[in-house]
Amino acid sequence: MKRLAILGSTGSIGQQTLDIVRDLPDRFEVVGLAGGENAGLLAEQVSQFQPKLVYSTIKPSLPAKTKFSSMEEIAIHPEVDLVVIATTGKTGLAPTLAAIRAGKKIALANKEILAMAGEIITAEAKRHQAQILPIDSEHSAIWQCLRGEKAEVARLILTASGGPFYRRLPSQLATVTVEEALQHPTWKMGKKVTIDSATLMNKGLEAIEARWLFSVPFSKIEIVIHPQSIVHSLVEFTDGALKAQLSFPDMHLPIQYALSYPKRLPNSTLPRLDLVLVNSLTFEAVNYDKFPCLELALDAGKKGGTYPSVLCAADEVATELFLAKHINFPGIAEIIAKTINLHRGIMNPTLDEILDAYTWARETALRVASKESLCYKQ
Ligand code: MG
Repeated sequence: MKRLAILGSTGSIGQQTLDIVRDLPDRFEVVGLAGGENAGLLAEQVSQFQPKLVYSTIKPSLPAKTKFSSMEEIAIHPEVDLVVIATTGKTGLAPTLAAIRAGKKIALANKEILAMAGEIITAEAKRHQAQILPIDSEHSAIWQCLRGEKAEVARLILTASGGPFYRRLPSQLATVTVEEALQHPTWKMGKKVTIDSATLMNKGLEAIEARWLFSVPFSKIEIVIHPQSIVHSLVEFTDGALKAQLSFPDMHLPIQYALSYPKRLPNSTLPRLDLVLVNSLTFEAVNYDKFPCLELALDAGKKGGTYPSVLCAADEVATELFLAKHINFPGIAEIIAKTINLHRGIMNPTLDEILDAYTWARETALRVASKESLCYKQ
């Protein structure tokens, strides 16, 4: 029996994590839950899973046995074996560090944590012998491919679906609607990640995460478009052998793998892949010109220091403005690029410097947006 804390339990990954707990009740037990603003859903989760500890941005009325606690308190509680970080943005950063310092196992779904503070997080994890187990499908695939391998890696190949606009002409991108951008062709995800997938920012953040998770330089990370989202990523070894992990595009499997690791558990509710039905798998080169966010992310990752933090904050602001229909789709990349250009980076930053850069970048991105005429047209 593994005892879990799930931070971000009302989000897409959090809900799917609870599906796994529901499927395998004799394997997993929920000790702590932290939710956001969806108070109704959190209340349902609390009544079903009866956690000892609960956090929420709005303090809920709780059963007598349940204690209202901070995310850090939940993450380091002695009864917790594994902490699922399914928050978004920088919210999960402090509780993740607390859990690492308490030597907990971390199942990580929150991209910004490694993107913003990968060096600090991985160094602390090493120091405290805390394992970081990736939940994101690409990193889970690479992790599964590397299992049992001692050989050096020649390349990590991250696959990208290309999102809903991959076939559009660049001239058509200025008029895409929020509703279209939220229709991802292969994955069902939260809004922020769905927009990040449409701009390909998501793949850039994943490349930065992969760099830290697998300690591989950017020169050994490649991205390839794979519209079917069946091959979740690949590893090439020094002899030229490629290993890939394939499965139906559904997050329950990578979540369950992180929860059950080092075991694999049977679960009849997980979808199975019918290769004959899939019929063909295709791969093509990335069009960097059409999706400038990807290059912006890779550049920020290569520069390092506070640049990835600025990238994440500017992307958050730009995505919020797009979702609110204040700016058009190409405006997202323009705001991020201008914000990064205004930043004077700090190398080997402390956590405070990373967070200061984040705050600066949010304010700067808003200022940049208010000066530009990147209006939304439907
Ligand atoms: Mg992914």
